[in-house]
Amino acid sequence: MKEKFIRFMQGRYGVDNLNTHALWFVIILLVINIFLQNTFISIFSYVIWFIVIYRTFSRQVYKRYVENEKYLKMIQPITQFFHLHKKRMSDRSHKYFRCPQCKQMVRLPKGKGKIIVTCPKCQNKFEKRT
Ligand SMILES: [Zn+2]
Repeated sequence: MKEKFIRFMQGRYGVDNLNTHALWFVIILLVINIFLQNTFISIFSYVIWFIVIYRTFSRQVYKRYVENEKYLKMIQPITQFFHLHKKRMSDRSHKYFRCPQCKQMVRLPKGKGKIIVTCPKCQNKFEKRT
């Protein structure tokens, strides 16, 4: 049985970030719709669900890969925000900034006052209070 499934999935795309996020979106929509009982929301979520299933079993791996890359690029500001927030919460002895020019994350020790920071990536100089 397991071998049959492996053979079936060979050359197919499988699960990626876009599929996972879309599936969570569908679950949230369906839970909300328990209370709203809206036909449009119901149809909309089943259409997304169908697209997720189609993408998972698709044999056009490259096309699906490009779609996922586009999606990841689109949500990059959101993921960067959460990444920075997580860093700030876990490391209390440093301050984290993004370079205003190239968005490179820069770590500085706390309590040094106003200092001029040189970005390690693009050499841009900017002033920050630590
Ligand atoms: Zn920079």
